[in-house]
Amino acid sequence: MSEQICLFDTGPTTPPTPDIPPTLTPGPVPDLAQYDVILVNLSGGKDSQVALAVTMEAAVRAGVAHRVVCVHADLGEMEWAGTAFLARVHAVANGVTRFEVVRREIPDGNGTRHETLLQYAQRRRMWPSSKARWCTSDLKRGPIHRLYTRIVAEIDPVRIGRAVRLLNVMGMRAAESPARLKLAPYRHDAAASNGRRHVDTWLPIHAMSTEEVWERIYASDIPYSDVYDSTPGARDRQGMSRLSCIFCVLSSRRDLVLAARREPELADRYVRVEQEIGHDFRYREPMSAIREEAQRQTAAAHARDLLAELDLEPVG
Ligand code: SF4
Repeated sequence: MSEQICLFDTGPTTPPTPDIPPTLTPGPVPDLAQYDVILVNLSGGKDSQVALAVTMEAAVRAGVAHRVVCVHADLGEMEWAGTAFLARVHAVANGVTRFEVVRREIPDGNGTRHETLLQYAQRRRMWPSSKARWCTSDLKRGPIHRLYTRIVAEIDPVRIGRAVRLLNVMGMRAAESPARLKLAPYRHDAAASNGRRHVDTWLPIHAMSTEEVWERIYASDIPYSDVYDSTPGARDRQGMSRLSCIFCVLSSRRDLVLAARREPELADRYVRVEQEIGHDFRYREPMSAIREEAQRQTAAAHARDLLAELDLEPVG
């Protein structure tokens, strides 16, 4: 979320065609002064943390730092504890005064209620997948688009006599995956635009390597998520390789097993839903098998700790 990581799809990756209106400014990077609002998506993860810092530097240079707004798509208990708070810290530490939290809401009686990914999967009786990323579209992109609508109404296209110009900023990088390598770092978002708003997307750290991202984070005094480390404060990056939903359908097996070791009760709930809906969390990779491996590793670690305490040599 990215993203956090969240792995937002950014839509078309091909250069603009005559049918697709171009970006507001020619590029290759946007002229931030041309936008009414610069909306930075914060997942609480390392990439959005640095994307915000880079965006703020550019916004200060352009004299429009006051137009930067941050948004966090809250995944509730599906994301690591403290993630929404950390995203807010990132916004405040960069001098951003408006921080919005959005989440998926569904009708409930006369009102609405939050629906988590786990509840949604249970209701749909299926998990998302790399080919069917309804989790991203319905739990992140949809709620963020509703924020677009709210912001546009505040500015009021009728009052200003033109469509509101929105720049959507995300932390995706080419080094993350072949799919992200193909993303255009600055492009028009026709799907999110309409008569009332012109939306462009900018990926300010698309060309940055993972090491460069970490160098920037270490050089700043701004805290980063401790899920990346083996233990909080270790600064060893031996924890999760990505910040995403705790159990993300796109994660590596190593990350999923580590997540199940760190959040065994949530893993139990995923296993129960998996059994109830009769659909494996991933193709040929059920959550029950991930939990089993996590339990095996946890038991082995406890045995090693016990031997160390007793100062005994392992047998055999
Ligand atoms: S499961 Fe992964 S891809 Fe889906 S919303 Fe969560 S982090 Fe994004």
